[in-house]
Amino acid sequence: MKKRPAFKLDTFKSWLTECGAVIQPPTSQWEILRVQTCDGVQVVYRNSKEVQTWPESLIVAREAFERGNRMSLSPDMKARKKLRHLIEDLAARDGLWCWFCEVGFLTSDSVEITIEHLVSKSHGGPNHPSNLVIACKPCNTEAGHLSVSEKVGLRDRKRGFVCAEVRGAA
Ligand SMILES: [Zn+2]
Repeated sequence: MKKRPAFKLDTFKSWLTECGAVIQPPTSQWEILRVQTCDGVQVVYRNSKEVQTWPESLIVAREAFERGNRMSLSPDMKARKKLRHLIEDLAARDGLWCWFCEVGFLTSDSVEITIEHLVSKSHGGPNHPSNLVIACKPCNTEAGHLSVSEKVGLRDRKRGFVCAEVRGAA
């Protein structure tokens, strides 16, 4: 078996940074590496006998590093993945269009998909799907911190307006 070059922690740290991970300062003498990745904060420990403990996801990253590969480890990836899953769940329930104006996101690449909290977060609205709908950016901005009944009113006006416009054009 070909002998691997010795593992260098500093080179691995640079590689992690290049992959989008965020190196954090150790919080104790037993931490030889603390890094935030798409899997959350990962810590490598060593004990008084210099035995190291590596979390599973960093072992995977280290193997990629030793093979000379790249990985996408940015913590933002986690948030983006979570948001995509949430949008998929809400779209399966409501359809992939704006809950207010019914602009379709499949036919309109230029409209940004946002998540609207019916009871706004500032009023204690939960992040639970029962409180969430998909909205286009302009409608989400317009709805702002309106009450739920005002939002329903806004939705009805928007949908009515869209229908009237279509009828008018016909
Ligand atoms: Zn809209």
